[in-house]
Amino acid sequence: MIKTVRAMQSAAKGHREAGRTVGLVPTMGYFHEGHLSLMRAARGRDDVVVVSLFVNPTQFGPGEDYDRYPRDEDRDAALAEQVGVDVLFVPSVEEMYPEGDVTTVEVAKLTDGMCGAFRPGHFRGVTTVCVKLFNITMPHRAYFGLKDYQQYVVIRRMVRDLHLDLEIVACPTVREPDGLAMSSRNELLSAEEREAALVLSRALCAAEEMIRSGETSADVVREAVREAVQAEPLARLQYVEVADAETLAPLERVGGRVVVALAAHVGPTRLIDNYIVEV
Ligand code: AMP
Repeated sequence: MIKTVRAMQSAAKGHREAGRTVGLVPTMGYFHEGHLSLMRAARGRDDVVVVSLFVNPTQFGPGEDYDRYPRDEDRDAALAEQVGVDVLFVPSVEEMYPEGDVTTVEVAKLTDGMCGAFRPGHFRGVTTVCVKLFNITMPHRAYFGLKDYQQYVVIRRMVRDLHLDLEIVACPTVREPDGLAMSSRNELLSAEEREAALVLSRALCAAEEMIRSGETSADVVREAVREAVQAEPLARLQYVEVADAETLAPLERVGGRVVVALAAHVGPTRLIDNYIVEV
């Protein structure tokens, strides 16, 4: 376990100089199979696997769940060790954000819609912390889950636009046997809410079916998802989008590679999910 930026940078430099590849899995902890699948993917490709565990305050808005976010460092350390992680980087907030810092990284356009429209400043927090983590851990590859689809597209674009010297690897969404996308926030759901949360993956699955059986109006698909989620009294839909999977531009006609993405509150807990459909 490494806690300081200096120690992490010097370890990363040592590995690079010795000719070892470094794979980074950035996380906010409270590990589940989704996180572990990223770690295994890194383990399968890179010589040294670094997992960062940092609940990043700058990606939470006022009134969001920064304080409620589940944390359990000991459990996370044990799980990471089980899947063969070499380094767990666990910095403090003070370590990551030096006193008086005024520098951020912002990706325009791709952050306008979907989660970006409802969480002002969220993606600025994400991209800023990721650049910091890339500079601290110096990875050859960084692994991201498609569960956070917009985040993946935004990070990939930032890496391209800023000529950052690493590869972004996308990993598929890991789901519970009943379809619910795994998330640390699922821990915050009551038994009733956990049951109600199923409406999200079911609505997306139905949307995929509609598209596969020939529906080409994005509005018809959006409306079907809206109705399905509205039928669940414990769920409140924040948005559903049918967008081009590369540009995230909202579509009128469904075609090509499409992402159907949504965010909803189930009780007080905000969950997201998406399906990618190739038409
Ligand atoms: P988080 O700790 O929630 O910030 O997530 C850390 C990384 O794990 C991100 O790249 C997420 O996209 C990824 N991740 C979270 N949940 C899942 C999941 N159910 N399947 C695959 N990847 C996931």
